[in-house]
Amino acid sequence: MKIIAMEEAFTVPALTTHGLAMSRWQRFRESELANMVRRLPDLADLRLADMDEHGVDVQVLSLTNNQGLELQPDPAIAVSDAKLANDVLTEAVRAHPTRFAGLAVLPLQDPAAAVRELDRVVNQLGLSGVLTNGHTLGHYLDEPRFRPVWEALTGHDVPIYLHPGAAPTEWPVFDGHPELLGATYAWAAETGGHALRLITSGLFDTFPTAKVILGHMGELLPFHLSRLDTRLAALETDAKLEKKVSEYFTENFWITTSGVMAHSALIGAVLSVGIDNIMFAVDYPYESTVQAVDFLNSAPLSPADLEKVAHGNAERLLRLA
Ligand code: MN
Repeated sequence: MKIIAMEEAFTVPALTTHGLAMSRWQRFRESELANMVRRLPDLADLRLADMDEHGVDVQVLSLTNNQGLELQPDPAIAVSDAKLANDVLTEAVRAHPTRFAGLAVLPLQDPAAAVRELDRVVNQLGLSGVLTNGHTLGHYLDEPRFRPVWEALTGHDVPIYLHPGAAPTEWPVFDGHPELLGATYAWAAETGGHALRLITSGLFDTFPTAKVILGHMGELLPFHLSRLDTRLAALETDAKLEKKVSEYFTENFWITTSGVMAHSALIGAVLSVGIDNIMFAVDYPYESTVQAVDFLNSAPLSPADLEKVAHGNAERLLRLA
């Protein structure tokens, strides 16, 4: 069975921006750090060997959040770094066109420049969409400044992957518990909250064809849609939405399995958002490819449904086939 992995990270050591989003609160084990340092900058041998060993046919590559481009305070540096990162990504995809596809990074610090870079990566570089790591210098994507970016995304009909990035640190519930920040838990709440801001801002009434991808089995949202629908309906609110949150979530969102290797969660997500909206991902090199592939291959799904999760949905969304 063909396997496309949707959220696979790389770094570009030549960027000016470096390490801005590295966790200040969590210390990784030495072996984990060594694995990241060795594998993240590699866009050929190590990566392809890992894919070959475990049966991953295609990695959809994206610049890792650890590089921290979204937190670069100088827009001019963000613009030049984004171009360089997208050029490096394109080089890897062109060197191995059957093994790699790419989601570009945009310099969202300067929305007009981000639109120009999106035009370039789609029209000239042939990349498949965009990935951004959380807010950009505290700005979330529902803000009016980003409307031109949504116009360009829907104009090109390419998706944007909303990946976790640096979260706010002032969360009293996590005080004294840095182990719960980052990928452990806080990212899911932060990124899920970002996705919900997009919905309740009415963005998808303005841009009904916009396509957003969420990792990590939908950042817990597939399991909360029922409550969102009933509680929003009970509120006097400025959010005048044409549809229910659950409807936007199934029409405008796709989710990936990155880092969630539990069949209970997968089946819950299938029942919540539908089999056509779920795509496989590993989260290489942070997660184990062998564990992720085993999780996929042993999933309690029909062969036809398994093919959709493994590659079919990704091929359709990213026009890879
Ligand atoms: Mn990731």
